[in-house]
Amino acid sequence: MAAFFSSLYVHVPFCIKNCKYCSFYSLRHNEDLEKLYIKAILKEMEITKQIPHFLKTIYIGGGTPSCLSIYSLNSLLSDLTKNFKTARDVEFSVEINPKTIDKEKIGLMKACGVNRLSIGVQSFNDKELLFLGRIHNSDEAARTVEVVYKEGFENISIDLIYGIPGQTLKSWQETLKQAVSLPVKHVSVYELSLEENTLLGKELNAGKISLPLQDDVAFMYEFASDFLKENGFKKYEISNFARRGFECKHNISYWLRKPYLGLGPSAHSFFDKKRFHNPPDLFIYASFFIDGKAGWVFDYSVDKVEELKEKIFLGLRMTKGITIKKKCLLEFFKDFEKEKLLTISGNRVKLTLNGMLLSNEIFAQVLLHIENCPVCKQE
Ligand code: SF4
Repeated sequence: MAAFFSSLYVHVPFCIKNCKYCSFYSLRHNEDLEKLYIKAILKEMEITKQIPHFLKTIYIGGGTPSCLSIYSLNSLLSDLTKNFKTARDVEFSVEINPKTIDKEKIGLMKACGVNRLSIGVQSFNDKELLFLGRIHNSDEAARTVEVVYKEGFENISIDLIYGIPGQTLKSWQETLKQAVSLPVKHVSVYELSLEENTLLGKELNAGKISLPLQDDVAFMYEFASDFLKENGFKKYEISNFARRGFECKHNISYWLRKPYLGLGPSAHSFFDKKRFHNPPDLFIYASFFIDGKAGWVFDYSVDKVEELKEKIFLGLRMTKGITIKKKCLLEFFKDFEKEKLLTISGNRVKLTLNGMLLSNEIFAQVLLHIENCPVCKQE
């Protein structure tokens, strides 16, 4: 397959302040760094627009894209739409933070063709927001949803986190109730996972905080699955729920392994059967692209075995499951079926709710099996 991509991701590597659980590549925002970033990313667009593409989805994430100044946001959005060939019905998403968005930025996004906003709400409980180190409170989050809706954005998504130290089932239920009372079309629910290099990860290792019991966390997920369904949000992926027709096409393209290009420091790409990424450092990244060179770092080539592994750990995340033709692998899946972690119907394999709760363990076992099974590798 010749190099070609149909989805574009743009990473904006700035935040006003780092959240205590976050391990994404993000710098504290300042004007000089913003200027350097904009200079480099505009160059990166000039280089990459030459790769054959036709964009069906665009996603600007971070970091906090909405913390860019109106001037930089305008340069980024207008250069992007000018440089890349885009489908008329493109899904064009931008992540925003309630604290860094205003009507002027909302208007600019709308004028530049953005048609989906993803709001980092995380919780509607102020204590939990404070614990996580978020810069906004619950009222500001709710107000942001109302304002962007009034300004004409119909496709609104919010992110929520469960499994926060100190969070109770009651406070999680309250957060979900508030979420469905707002005009949102998509809800992502993520279990808090703390990497060692994060502030909360360090506190966890030092025994200063503890995570809720795993049974309670599982119950929060089960509750969210049932409650969101009752309120018209269909689960289409382990962590994602949407009203009909509002599933995130961009993320689906990742899970279906469609080719995409990532711009900006630390952004990952997949096309031409290769996975690669930009350096996760603004200065190294900028030094390449400002000089007119692509600074890609090669990760791996996707051969048949990698393709099979990716199909499983990406495709199986989706509720519709995947088709498995390899007999040996289907046999291997039968043990999970016996434990009611997945269902097999013909060649179609789908995770059950319990399987979704244990998805990481299941994926690890399947990948290990493929690695060590000569039949799976050859069939
Ligand atoms: S706003 Fe998002 S990207 Fe920035 S520190 Fe918080 S979680 Fe990380």
